[in-house]
Amino acid sequence: MPAPAPLCLTNARFIDPDTLDIRTGHLAVTQGPQGSAAFVDAIPPDAETIDCTGKLVTRALAVGHHHIYSALARGMPPPAAPPTNFVEILQRIWWNLDKALDADMIRASALAAAVDAAKSGVTFIIDHHASPNAAAGSLHTIAHALESVGLDHLLCYELSDRDGPESRDAGLRETAEYLQSRPGLVGLHASFTVSDELLDKAMHLAHEHNTGIHVHVAEAQSDQQHCLQHHGLRCVHRFAQAGALDLPQTILAHCIHLDESERRRLGDANAWVSHQPESNLNNAVGIADATGFEHRVFLGTDGMNGDPLAAARAEYLACQSADAPSPLVVYRRLRRVHEYLAANNIPGDAPNNLVILDYDPPTPITPDNWPAHVVYALNRSHIDTVISNGRVIVRDRRCTLVDEAEIAAHAREQAARLWSKL
Ligand SMILES: [Zn+2]
Repeated sequence: MPAPAPLCLTNARFIDPDTLDIRTGHLAVTQGPQGSAAFVDAIPPDAETIDCTGKLVTRALAVGHHHIYSALARGMPPPAAPPTNFVEILQRIWWNLDKALDADMIRASALAAAVDAAKSGVTFIIDHHASPNAAAGSLHTIAHALESVGLDHLLCYELSDRDGPESRDAGLRETAEYLQSRPGLVGLHASFTVSDELLDKAMHLAHEHNTGIHVHVAEAQSDQQHCLQHHGLRCVHRFAQAGALDLPQTILAHCIHLDESERRRLGDANAWVSHQPESNLNNAVGIADATGFEHRVFLGTDGMNGDPLAAARAEYLACQSADAPSPLVVYRRLRRVHEYLAANNIPGDAPNNLVILDYDPPTPITPDNWPAHVVYALNRSHIDTVISNGRVIVRDRRCTLVDEAEIAAHAREQAARLWSKL
């Protein structure tokens, strides 16, 4: 088979995602998981060209913590008794929904979430999945759905003791089975639904497959209270004692209610922390403060949407009353997920993942002020074209590999079926 024609973005005004240097020229993009994007003097004669005159080009985005199983929840009927705290939000909404999921709903939600993310400029999703009554095969179902839209991924199944030993063991089987053939993480719900026995099994799996733990940590104060009461130590120290913080693949989601000793421990850890400001505001659980471990923080969406630019704006606004980050600090949090993926040799997030932005601001763009453009103005409506592994997956704001309308129509059918089971 002949090699695919290289892609060339002509007259591209490229913003380097790390240095923020701005350079205009012809950008040749090669395909594949190890592909590249590099300026060339002349357009390669066999190249497929995209004229980027008047547009900006930069690295595509990635979601650091998502729950794509929640894609069919938008607009669903509220629970009969409104939740009054975070644990009740889980019990009355999310644990009710995830138990009703079957394979068709999981596939429909993954496809819908993938379209949403791709059109938000995303080419890579780190996901945390739960479907207690349809665990077997669920991660492969999600992987195939994301790949059909052109997205790469790092998946895990949410292990928990919340539904008893049978459900826990089904999750362990699904995790072990998936990690035999794919890169992924070992998912845990949160300290307050994870026994010492399960934590031990999860750490064994992580070591066996040379990967890390992906777990919610201190999202609400109640997680800390439970941990102190049942394990005699705070959440970060419990996971540290188990060895989870030594693993450079480990992601601790949220980390809101921490004391000084936990901050110091995270500052020295090999593990990473994801912030989900929109979800935190939605659940009124508090605002994350990265003091002490700023260099390990990246952004997720927690199932709210697939839109990292929206997460970056929310992070900037919400955190003004916490650690008050500058636009540049928030920009680094938006981009640090690439560092996590590269440091762990996880394939699918090479420099040939790009977005073409149709963004024509009323003020100049410079390397110094680009982060302010990102947090104050840039949004998914500016995402014109998305290139994943050197292939165009969104062109003129439409997905190229799948039929968006068909995916949305099918998702609405599955959503109606899901809601009828709640
Ligand atoms: Zn989450």
